[in-house]
Amino acid sequence: MQSFSVRTRSRVELVDVTDRVARAISAEGTSDGLCTVFVPHTTAGITINENADPSVVADLIMELGKIVPFEDGYGHTEGNSAAHIKSSLIGHSVQVIVKAGRPVLGTWQGIFFCEFDGPRNRTVHVHVG
Ligand code: ZN
Repeated sequence: MQSFSVRTRSRVELVDVTDRVARAISAEGTSDGLCTVFVPHTTAGITINENADPSVVADLIMELGKIVPFEDGYGHTEGNSAAHIKSSLIGHSVQVIVKAGRPVLGTWQGIFFCEFDGPRNRTVHVHVG
């Protein structure tokens, strides 16, 4: 397993980690298999979406904010229930096929770390098996 850190700078932010995942896959040394990218956090997530037009990510953040507002009479007293809920909606792992040591992604696809309770230092695990 490989791991890397992500330093987020905003409360809610999507960080393109495609290149860092690709490097971690290379470091795994398995040229063909299934890669799991896992985020060990309860207020963050990981997703695959378009990394060509940054408006796609901005729209995703905007609409998630409408579905799960920051304040909505939540019971969780830490004040970050919206982040916990968005984390579960987006999910904590993605799988990517690895061929010839590279992740197999569509032309417009990138892998995004999803921060919902930043800014923080975060961790991403990558395993090919
Ligand atoms: Zn909490």
